[in-house]
Amino acid sequence: MKSKSARKRQMRKLLCVLPVLLCLICAAAASEGTGEVLSVGVPVDRCPIFYLDEKTNEIIGIGADLMRAAAENAGYAVEFRRITEGTLKEALDNGDYDVVMPFGSAIASASGHPTVVSDNLFQTPFTIVTEGKRALPEFNHLRVGMLKSQGGVAETVRQLYPGMEINMYETMAECVKALRDGQVDALLQNSYIWSYVLQKPAYENLAVQPSAMFTIDFRAGTQNTPAGRALIDRLNEGIAALSETRRQAIALDYTSRRLYRYDFSDYLFQYRWVLVTGGLLIALLLLVLIQKQRMNRIRQEEKMRQLLDTDPLTGALSLTGFRKRVEELLRAHPDIPYLLSYNNIKNFKYINDSLGRKAGDDLLRFWVQKAREHLTEEEAIGRPAGDRFAILHRASGDEKILQDIRDVADPVRDYFISQGKENHVRICSGIYVLTPKDYSEIDVDRMLDCARVAARKVRDTRKEGYEFYNPEQWQKGQKVSDICNHLPAAMQNGEIQVWYQPQVNFETGKIIGAEALCRWNHASLGWISPAEFIPLLEESDLIFDLDCFVWETVCRDLQKWNGQGMRRSVSVNLSRRDIREDRNIPEKFSELIRTYGLSQDQLRIEITETAFAENANLVLQTTVRLREMGFLVEMDDFGSGYSSLHMLKEVPVDRIKLDLHFLSGSGDPEKGRIIISYIIQMIRSLGLHVIAEGVENITQADFLLSYGCSEMQGFYFHKPMPADEYEQIG
Ligand code: C2E
Ligand code: MG
Ligand code: MG
Repeated sequence: MKSKSARKRQMRKLLCVLPVLLCLICAAAASEGTGEVLSVGVPVDRCPIFYLDEKTNEIIGIGADLMRAAAENAGYAVEFRRITEGTLKEALDNGDYDVVMPFGSAIASASGHPTVVSDNLFQTPFTIVTEGKRALPEFNHLRVGMLKSQGGVAETVRQLYPGMEINMYETMAECVKALRDGQVDALLQNSYIWSYVLQKPAYENLAVQPSAMFTIDFRAGTQNTPAGRALIDRLNEGIAALSETRRQAIALDYTSRRLYRYDFSDYLFQYRWVLVTGGLLIALLLLVLIQKQRMNRIRQEEKMRQLLDTDPLTGALSLTGFRKRVEELLRAHPDIPYLLSYNNIKNFKYINDSLGRKAGDDLLRFWVQKAREHLTEEEAIGRPAGDRFAILHRASGDEKILQDIRDVADPVRDYFISQGKENHVRICSGIYVLTPKDYSEIDVDRMLDCARVAARKVRDTRKEGYEFYNPEQWQKGQKVSDICNHLPAAMQNGEIQVWYQPQVNFETGKIIGAEALCRWNHASLGWISPAEFIPLLEESDLIFDLDCFVWETVCRDLQKWNGQGMRRSVSVNLSRRDIREDRNIPEKFSELIRTYGLSQDQLRIEITETAFAENANLVLQTTVRLREMGFLVEMDDFGSGYSSLHMLKEVPVDRIKLDLHFLSGSGDPEKGRIIISYIIQMIRSLGLHVIAEGVENITQADFLLSYGCSEMQGFYFHKPMPADEYEQIG
């Protein structure tokens, strides 16, 4: 029973539901059959409002879903179409779309046709975005940037804020550029779109201004025609049927999706520091690798060079190595006097044959080892061939070099004897003393040839020993070093003295001054003449030391004589080598007279005629400066060099010192006298003083006087004498 009544109830229920189901099927069939398609034109660059689905390429988004829901409520099937016009206003004129969206309010179409808009589908919040947090002028004075395709919104905003300046740009990138360039104060856009756009890493410094917000309606529009109005009325019914919850759900659905997709430029921007750092690291690594490779190559080359430059048996330099080293040393030390010895073992072949090759090799190694004990960094040893050694020695100018040769040669000679064998090693050495030319035009092979010639002389004439290739050079070298090395000590210990040769006025018989001349009583060489040592000191650039010593001594003597009431004047010699750019000679003299309390006229400065010709400019400047300071300048040895009369016009000196030596030279003395008489007349006519030096007899003195030259210096009157003697006369 129970089951019968239950079945009856079920049947009743089914009969009630059936008509409803039939109605629904009919309605669905009716909508399928009569359902109109609504063509909605929308932009597709407004993610998440309207955009293309990546997979289906369909237009989707909050706006699309809202519109679809409303349209379906109104009995439409929606077909979204991407608008191809530049602006929504233009799209309104395209009859292919039934409606266009989104609009905030009704606006005229591009052709000026009035439009009608639907009810609001959704309240869309609009936000202002700026670069960083920036204080903004009020809305009515704001310059904002917007997308060109949002012309409709722009118009609504213009109605809302008439003072706002709106600039339209094609793309979001252009909008951002305008903001960054300061063309606009802010960008204006739908907040939903911002939430999408601002995910782009390159826009990380753009900031949403939360306070600057307003909402704009989200409506569909079409031309204001009877059909358009009817369509909008029907759509409005669908909109009205759209519940608020549904609207929120649609918005939430899209805003909670991760829609932004990184493109290549986004990755580049996002990882720019990693990329830059990585790039730098790679560059650094490459640099290190290249540098390492370079160092390896240099090391390799250096190794190769060493191999080529070194004799593998003895460790001495090979011929190439020796050549290079000698060139280096001569260039680096042009001031060191050197000699080059070429040594060979006379009976080496016999040693090899009788004691074996190994014994021969040991002997060669021993020789190099012994020589190295005596050689300094500035010296070198090389093995140009089998039993030949070349050595560049420092020439010390005394017996030391020969001692050095003996220090090496003696143990080598006794090498086998000390091992209890009978073989005596015989060494023949040739020595070449380097000349100044060898330093300026370095030719190591030529020097080796010379030393070899001298060694051959020993080998051909004697059993062993050494021979100089150029003994005169050796002696001269010894003298140079005796003089130059000894100069400082000689100035200290009184070997060098300053003597005075009085100058007289032959007419009055009075002493008018003296010339200071130095004298050297050398400890080992005895009295040496200035004519000998002055040129050597000039060559080795030591003359300034000597001259400073002489000038100082003269000033001290003058100070002493001033103190004794004997006020005198002395002429000092200034070598052409003293005058150099880096020496202020006039200042030196002025300091001297300041130090010794003298007056300028007590010191006369003699500069040789040749100096004026050699280094004209500098010597002229020095002369002018000395005279400006009040010193008297004399041109020494006029007539002894290649005098140019032209020079008398150019050189501003006070006195010309005429050298009578050329009277005593070869040629007709009468002609010489005539020349001198004219020179004197010429000097006097130029208004210059003249003094004759080298006057040896009364005839010369009378002759000079007869032509108006009364000031004289020479053996006829006085020879140079020590200071204490000079004090006694005049
Ligand atoms: P000088 O400056 O022309 O000096 C004159 C030279 O002629 C001196 O030679 C002097 O002794 C010599 N003499 C003087 N009267 C006669 C004479 O009647 N007959 C002959 N035959 N000779 C006479 P000294 O002292 O040998 O000097 C030679 C040159 O050495 C000097 O020529 C000068 O150029 C230079 N000299 C001498 N002392 C110094 C000095 O302290 N510094 C510099 N830079 N050069 C000096
Ligand atoms: Mg002189
Ligand atoms: Mg002179």
